[in-house]
Amino acid sequence: MAYDDQNIFAKILRGEIPAIKVYEDEKTLAFMDIMPQAEGHTLVIPKSPAVTLLDLDPEDAAYTIQIVQKVAKAIETALERKGIVLMQLSGEEAGQTVPHIHFHLIPSSVHQLGKHASQMGDQAKIVALAEKIKAAL
Ligand code: 5GP
Repeated sequence: MAYDDQNIFAKILRGEIPAIKVYEDEKTLAFMDIMPQAEGHTLVIPKSPAVTLLDLDPEDAAYTIQIVQKVAKAIETALERKGIVLMQLSGEEAGQTVPHIHFHLIPSSVHQLGKHASQMGDQAKIVALAEKIKAAL
């Protein structure tokens, strides 16, 4: 699928719109979801321009999953909880709304998830959670 460099995550990567970041390196970025499905909902994205997991270079996929693991551990530590829903929607048909590959890290149970991408979270709360996660990284 053709990559649209005007998608919202491409703009975040270029610094054109703000994001509450928790981790960044040469190849990946982790930041808080603005419409969290649970407190601490975080997104991890590779910087390479791919729409879905199926388009992503396997080496970038392998690297990104290491960062997913690293951030997931920090979330568990920071929020003092066990259990994280890892979600990756590949394709509009699956419900993907932002066409840049991303992994959702949602510290919750699959039985208690809030509705997907539906309600803005409390910004001050999200910033406070991000600070905790950063401190645990
Ligand atoms: P998808 O539906 O593509 O799997 O997930 C996209 C996610 O991005 C949703 O959970 C949604 O809440 C989140 N999101 C949408 N727009 C923005 C934004 O501008 N900033 C951030 N941080 N998250 C966003």
